Amino acid sequence: MRAGYPDFRLGNMLATSFTATLTERCGDAVERIPTPQRLVDWFEVHGLAVESCSAAELELARELREAIHTTATAAAIGDVLPAQALRIINDCSIRGRAAAVLTPERNREWQLGSTASVDDALSVIAADAIGIIAGERDGKLALCASSTCRAAFFDTSQSRTRKWCDMNTCGNRQKKARFQANQRRRTPSTQTAAR
Ligand SMILES: [Zn+2]
Repeated sequence: MRAGYPDFRLGNMLATSFTATLTERCGDAVERIPTPQRLVDWFEVHGLAVESCSAAELELARELREAIHTTATAAAIGDVLPAQALRIINDCSIRGRAAAVLTPERNREWQLGSTASVDDALSVIAADAIGIIAGERDGKLALCASSTCRAAFFDTSQSRTRKWCDMNTCGNRQKKARFQANQRRRTPSTQTAAR
């Protein structure tokens, strides 16, 4: 991780880890890929190492990110999928070249086209989003219960009742807020003054 930049939120679903490079969309938004180099870093962490990234490619990546976010949100609440966002996802999926390869350890990895371009990496992410939203994977799209977050996440819990996009951040914050509210209720102000 490079100093001075917000950390990445590492999830186990590629597409929603990617949409989580912008967090707190409904509050004080945090951009976790603020520079082309940070996007290169993000790709590297997720097994999609690319040769380089320009400012225009970063813009394109963010466009895909928001298209996935919008489409996944619509899918989570059972809305019609937005046509413009759908076009962006499909264009990205078609444009890049990438192939799945199997390792001896039985892991699936991605091999990007000969130039390992941003387009190639984005096509993998777009395809992952398509798989999730099309319902190919075992799980359910849901929206984070945090009013400042509202991230679309993929719930793979057995009961499908997960409320937070991330237990370590949104879930934890909510737990702390509840705890503090309880503490305040148990400590009337007169007691505090008499201390
Ligand atoms: Zn959240």
